[in-house]
Amino acid sequence: MDDLIAKLKVALGPSAVLEGAEAAEKAQGGWSKLGTPRVVLRPASTEDVSKALALCHASGEGVVPWGGKTGLVEGGEAEGHIALSLDRMNKIEEIDVAAGTATVQAGCVLQTLCDAVDAKGALFPLDLGARGSATIGGNISTNAGGNRVIRYGMMRDMVLGLEAVLADGTVMTSMNHLIKNNAGYDLKQLFLGSEGTLGVVTRAVLRLRPKPLSQDTAFVAVEEFAQLPIFLRHMERALGGTLSAFEVMWDDFYKLVTSEPAKGKAPIAYGHPYYVLVESLGGNQEEDSIRFEKALMEALEAGEVSDAVIAKNQSERDAMWALRDDVGQVARNFPIYTFDVSLKIADMESYIAEIREGFASQWPDHSLMVFGHLGDGNLHVIPGSLPEHTPAMRKAVEQIVYSALRKRGGSVSAEHGIGLEKRPYLGWSRSAEEVALMRVLKKALDPKNILNPGKVLEPSVSHSKAAE
Ligand code: ZN
Repeated sequence: MDDLIAKLKVALGPSAVLEGAEAAEKAQGGWSKLGTPRVVLRPASTEDVSKALALCHASGEGVVPWGGKTGLVEGGEAEGHIALSLDRMNKIEEIDVAAGTATVQAGCVLQTLCDAVDAKGALFPLDLGARGSATIGGNISTNAGGNRVIRYGMMRDMVLGLEAVLADGTVMTSMNHLIKNNAGYDLKQLFLGSEGTLGVVTRAVLRLRPKPLSQDTAFVAVEEFAQLPIFLRHMERALGGTLSAFEVMWDDFYKLVTSEPAKGKAPIAYGHPYYVLVESLGGNQEEDSIRFEKALMEALEAGEVSDAVIAKNQSERDAMWALRDDVGQVARNFPIYTFDVSLKIADMESYIAEIREGFASQWPDHSLMVFGHLGDGNLHVIPGSLPEHTPAMRKAVEQIVYSALRKRGGSVSAEHGIGLEKRPYLGWSRSAEEVALMRVLKKALDPKNILNPGKVLEPSVSHSKAAE
């Protein structure tokens, strides 16, 4: 390893290779475990990334790519490995509003890009809680989702082209600007959501959208789960395609984010089982507000919702979103475990009931926070107030959360990815054939297993067996 580090210093320049205390400091502030890397590389260009990977490949050393370090599943865990931080490659190369594209380097922070695009009169629609730290490269590697998937899709739907460096240092430039391009395999998809295990994303061409000229936001209360999908479909229909958020909060979560020490105030009185933040983004404020209000009135009259408050100005709108964003309040219930599951909306009520029962039977004092992007079939489930925070406790909790999910054909990861944390459960959401094909791809693109080694795919054991 020392020999390799010496070569990396020559190739990238000594200031781009951090060791010891400097490397440890860079590993601070991760949202999930990062470990202590042997060195942290800070390449300044695609060429640097290519040189670094070629050298690591020749030595067979593992490389763990780092973006904003806001991943939640230990996908950036780099204990004893070489971490490759893209933080210096953070330029916005071009924003072309007429063409509807932005060309950026992987280390660009999501919020920075969104603000720059907004200033030019367009929209980059990805929006998630980690927006101030998460990077475009990380968003691509994890196929990030967030609050507006219902309208604009996931990161996958916003990437037109990208550049990635392969395990051996080969630069695969596929900076496509076209919306339609069926000339052979869509290679960028290999790097979207593969968590840095098939290549290191260095640049991307992103698709921009017209900047909305209207925004209407409301908070509503719903009395029965069965009304939620009815209300959702009603709003989709009534708003003619402008529904951009449908965020549901179960009552415990709503109480948590509206009670001290949380700063949020309850826009609707307590006493309802479900609350929904709905938002529409459109093209004409006056007309859209009338339509939005009418749609909500119809929902009230039909009994789909029992109460509704419409934000009258930006500060009321911000206050509603602040409740949804104040996920950090769940730490009050420490020890907690966070889950990010996908399942059919029709299965959600029985699913939550089953896991609630599972927790209650073992830990009567537990808490259970549930909220999420219901329109996408994605719930964030956070059990807490558990007796201890240990690997054994985690496993016991996982068994409850994932067994009930597996029965219903759900996914153990809607948004966050697999990383290390969910690796034992990959086979609970994917068939043996699917996992085998993933292995074929991994082997073809990274035969020496140096790219984010050990993430997503278990080194050799059969997946379905591992968790049992
Ligand atoms: Zn989410």
